[in-house]
Amino acid sequence: MLDRYLDFTQSSFGKQVASALGLPTPPRLERAEVGYATMPLAGKKALVAADASATATGAVLAALQQLGATVQVVPGHAGFAAVKAAALNTAVELHSEGGETEVIAPVIVFDATGVAGTKGLKQVYELFQSRLRRLAPNTRVVVLARAAADANSVEAATAAIGLTGFVRSLAKEIGKNGSTANLLQVSKAGDAWLAGPLAFFTGPNSAYVTGQVLAVGDAPKGAVAPAHFNQSLAGKVAVVTGAARGIGAAIAQILAREGATVVGMDRPAEEGALGATMAPINGVGLALDVTAPDAGERLASELKTRFGGADIVVHNAGVTRDKMLRNMTPQLWDMVLDINLGAILNINERLMQSGLKPGARFVCISSIGGIGGNAGQTNYAATKAGVIGYAEAMAPILAKKGMAINAVAPGFIETQMTAMMPAVNREVGRRVNSLAQGGVPQDIAEAVTFFASPLANGVNGRTLRVCGQNWLGA
Ligand code: NAP
Repeated sequence: MLDRYLDFTQSSFGKQVASALGLPTPPRLERAEVGYATMPLAGKKALVAADASATATGAVLAALQQLGATVQVVPGHAGFAAVKAAALNTAVELHSEGGETEVIAPVIVFDATGVAGTKGLKQVYELFQSRLRRLAPNTRVVVLARAAADANSVEAATAAIGLTGFVRSLAKEIGKNGSTANLLQVSKAGDAWLAGPLAFFTGPNSAYVTGQVLAVGDAPKGAVAPAHFNQSLAGKVAVVTGAARGIGAAIAQILAREGATVVGMDRPAEEGALGATMAPINGVGLALDVTAPDAGERLASELKTRFGGADIVVHNAGVTRDKMLRNMTPQLWDMVLDINLGAILNINERLMQSGLKPGARFVCISSIGGIGGNAGQTNYAATKAGVIGYAEAMAPILAKKGMAINAVAPGFIETQMTAMMPAVNREVGRRVNSLAQGGVPQDIAEAVTFFASPLANGVNGRTLRVCGQNWLGA
């Protein structure tokens, strides 16, 4: 569905009207038009700063070097010595930031892994405060912190959590020009796996992800770091359920863009639409209801015979059947529970017996409705919160087998599902976030593809909200 208001406010007349009436003027978001480049930040500047006791700066610089960025620094900043020392070890060339008139680099990475107490937090203030007025549209800010549980003092644990509030508020402030701010909570073991998350969070692939905290840790057994970032799914086979249209169709397209062969599944009634989605990406359509008693069996045997198994399984099929609980029939309850949650558990159980290749990755689609809850969605929210719990519980089990599982929680996304909402609810739904607009299916597909790829080797059992920092549960 088109966001006509966004288009209107992009014109100078529209901008004037919106500003006179005190209405939001949503920024135009830069999204990826092609797949990841071999070095996604080649030709781009990245401003790197750190707190004076930061411990991940070497890993950050090495990752940015792998991504091809030109690293800028601020020699007058309190943590400069830490950056300089890390650069000596990694042989990364540092360039001083330009003068007050220069636009700030489009990527800013602050290593705050050593921040402790209020003095430590002041270093973060000092770096950002003086630069926000000169921030270019669609700037990407990434702050790194250690998890509070890894902190070696009360001051460090306090500051680590303090940073989550800082980043969430910064995201709300800079969203007006399409810029994003996210926090990577990286453990020591996660330092080695930073390049992939940095590729995602500093690029156009995360245009609708802001104000989020994502933990990066050790990779599952046997995981290998990607040598380059383009076509990271070449040779992989990916299953996507509910692939005929909407978010599922976009997931199939973006997985294929990064090189995967896609097996798209949808209900037999959608066979025509499924075929139309699969044809341009040379995918395989499988007309199969995810709740069919033999769904797992048929999928496993199809995967075994045609491809020897799947590398990626994306559980996207989902429905809403909203009713206040007091009016909800058992049929509506069961239908939503069976499709959105029961089918995931059943299909995965069967696939884990046979039907997967080594190092498989699972991605499940949750919803911010499962985090914040909505009146009239007890059935839906139970399934979408259940998906988050499932990913958390399965992660350690899968890691031992060299596999991983994560979830993506979409906010308001422009699809047939949201086009059916009453007009006023729809308009409110798409504006109540830091970017003042709804996401598009590609936004969810980019996050799913990140989790499905080796770029997310260090992320397991997590849920990432792709919601423009929706004010509901953000
Ligand atoms: P959609 O446009 O309704 O597409 C869902 C697809 O799943 C449809 O092709 C649907 O087929 C298929 N499907 C439904 N039941 C199925 C079954 N039993 N077996 C196989 N396929 C089945 O929905 P969407 O907006 O793309 O949503 C995709 C996922 O994102 C869902 O899990 C949804 O809960 C989640 N989500 C969406 C939003 C949003 O704003 N759109 C927000 C949060 C979460 P039929 O048309 O035949 O039913």
